[in-house]
Amino acid sequence: MNSNILLVEDEPGLVLTLTDRLRSEGYSVESLYDGSEAVERATRDHFGLIILDVMLPGKGGFEICQELRERGFTTPILMLTARTQMTDKVKGLKIGADDYLTKPFEMAELLARVEALLRRGSRTGSDGPDFYDFGPLRIDMRHSEVFRNGAPASLSTKEFQLLRYLIEHRGKTLTRDELLKDVWGYSSAPSTRTVDVHVAWLRQKLEDDPKQPKYIITVHGQGYKFSS
Ligand code: CA
Repeated sequence: MNSNILLVEDEPGLVLTLTDRLRSEGYSVESLYDGSEAVERATRDHFGLIILDVMLPGKGGFEICQELRERGFTTPILMLTARTQMTDKVKGLKIGADDYLTKPFEMAELLARVEALLRRGSRTGSDGPDFYDFGPLRIDMRHSEVFRNGAPASLSTKEFQLLRYLIEHRGKTLTRDELLKDVWGYSSAPSTRTVDVHVAWLRQKLEDDPKQPKYIITVHGQGYKFSS
């Protein structure tokens, strides 16, 4: 189960209380006070749940929720609001929020919702986002498809598996041996040259200039890294 939670809330007191409590329950929590970065943040990392306040500076919770859903993200969203009108609840659920809690709420109530949503998320396999967007690239994880400037890039199964692995470990340097073990598996035992060849193919298909790659970076003497 992915127990990383993104909390988008602008009340410092509530952020502190929620963060402390959720962490003490074993979740990892990242918080944002401003709504304007929420979509980018939510789409760049693997969150099991997004707790989203409706009234936010920068960009409102409804707008954030709608944008995420329009971009294909299925990460569960729990919306928080100070308002009690039913119209908010209906609106939130209509644009794709999974659950809704009206402030003030009991911590036990919030924890129960969080647990239920995380469990639901892990059951449906929506552990990570369905799509990743990196500059001109869109990677559709569910359908194993890649688009560059909107046009489909034709990747072999192995190329896509390698790309997926690099993206899921983005920012981290991965050695050729690690990639061989985790992407190819021990049984086939190809040489580390296989990794280099597949990286070169991926760069041809994805990078603007394969000789000056922006995404699949060589870390000299160590391996490769996906840079987002
Ligand atoms: Ca607020």
